Amino acid sequence: MVIDFWSNQYYHPDYETTYHAKPRYDIIKNAFKYAHDIGLRTGVVLFPCMVPASVYYDNPSMRARNAEGPWGYKGCHLCWNKGKELAVKFDRYLLEYFNGEVDTLFIEPNDPGICGCKECMKNYVQIVKEIIEVYEKLARKYTADRWIGFISWWFSEVERAVGGNICREVFSSLPKGTLVVDGVRSTLNIAKECGHEIAFFFMLDPERGWEDRALITRPELRLIDAQIKKSLEAGDVGIMNYRLTPFCQFIADYVFGRKCWDASLFDKNIITELSAEICRTNEGREKFTEAVLALEKWWMDKDVRDLRRANKLFNELKYVEKEGMIEKIEILADVTVVFTLIAEYWAKGALIKPGKVYEKVTDELLEKVYASMIDKPIFEGYIGKEAWVNRQRALLSLKVPMWMTAIDQLNTRDKIRRWVQ
Ligand SMILES: [Zn+2]
Repeated sequence: MVIDFWSNQYYHPDYETTYHAKPRYDIIKNAFKYAHDIGLRTGVVLFPCMVPASVYYDNPSMRARNAEGPWGYKGCHLCWNKGKELAVKFDRYLLEYFNGEVDTLFIEPNDPGICGCKECMKNYVQIVKEIIEVYEKLARKYTADRWIGFISWWFSEVERAVGGNICREVFSSLPKGTLVVDGVRSTLNIAKECGHEIAFFFMLDPERGWEDRALITRPELRLIDAQIKKSLEAGDVGIMNYRLTPFCQFIADYVFGRKCWDASLFDKNIITELSAEICRTNEGREKFTEAVLALEKWWMDKDVRDLRRANKLFNELKYVEKEGMIEKIEILADVTVVFTLIAEYWAKGALIKPGKVYEKVTDELLEKVYASMIDKPIFEGYIGKEAWVNRQRALLSLKVPMWMTAIDQLNTRDKIRRWVQ
């Protein structure tokens, strides 16, 4: 179990503006302990140079600068040359806090990336090497592996933009056998040539700056199966999955976890196993399995009848199953209600232009979506508790087309998303 830490998630006792994150540190520490108890390994991903937002704003002279290109720095980072001591302070404290509970420290220098100021760009590889050196020392002191894992995400893009052999130079500076993680196979091949162990990195629910793919439940059985097979064929030592963690995607989490344990498991068996965790009765388990498989089928064939069936089954289940698990089924029932409404509208030919955002979303649909969301906790971010005001309507009129576009674009049969290599 690996957790990424982001700017607003940092805690440091010297900075009152970070105190809100202290409870999260406690929760994560307990989660790591629990993970160890049940035999899992743990890790953290840190993005060197990242600092809490308040520290970023309080230190304008140290702030990282943007560079040209898609890989350019974007985030609450400090320039390595100007602010490395301050930046490392937060990561050092974090590792000290979780001391004994972290097996692997992964660093990911490029997402967001290294400062784009002239000096940093001129010495790009040198800066990465310095970062590696500093974080290896931290890993030796605070982690069980005593060695870093290296996530080289975006390095291929940097190389394309800056030129040279950045990947090879950086990988050559890592100790032999370092676990290198990337989503680009050609980059991993270079890592392999440099003598490293490699792990493939793929995504479920990539945010892409939006949450449009996160809210609507997708079991992703085929995608997970295909990616794990590819990774095994390539001889990767592991596969890392990166995703947001909305409650409504727990099916894919479970499937991914089980497939990592045993890639030979059949999807249906995994879902049946999950249904036994969630449902009390045999009938309930059968319904749950059928619903999940119908949902998966919807993502392949886009036949709204499958979606309606899944929604009907989740609705039937939500009041009768295991105490403590009802919430999970309710979430699936609530999400698929809204999702079905949008999909029905889409199926009637609401598509204006393939692949484009839908321009016409009627008030009638918005009212229905709103009525389906109200009083359902999973939609709290979209629905004000007080009233149906214009602002919420405006928000939904943006989001509903996004979800519809996501339905249109994702997961057609036998097609793995183009950005997964
Ligand atoms: Zn700089």
